[in-house]
Amino acid sequence: MNPSTCARCGGTLERQTITHTQLWGNELYEFESVPALVCLQCSEVWLDAGVAQLIEKIVQQQPQLQPKKYHQVPVFSLAEFSL
Ligand SMILES: [Zn+2]
Repeated sequence: MNPSTCARCGGTLERQTITHTQLWGNELYEFESVPALVCLQCSEVWLDAGVAQLIEKIVQQQPQLQPKKYHQVPVFSLAEFSL
């Protein structure tokens, strides 16, 4: 795979430092200062294998590893609304 081309849409990838959110079980984790390749066309985010492994390692070390900070995230259930 050419690392400068999006495997999803064929668009151009640009190296960016992003804030990445990762759902793990029922928990949402947020990671700052994540080096990633972002597709300029479809906004798909591609993480290097090493970065993805580091994120997995950090999540698995929970709760021993202390997060830098917490967000409060508002959660809504659509089951309580009529569509
Ligand atoms: Zn793309």
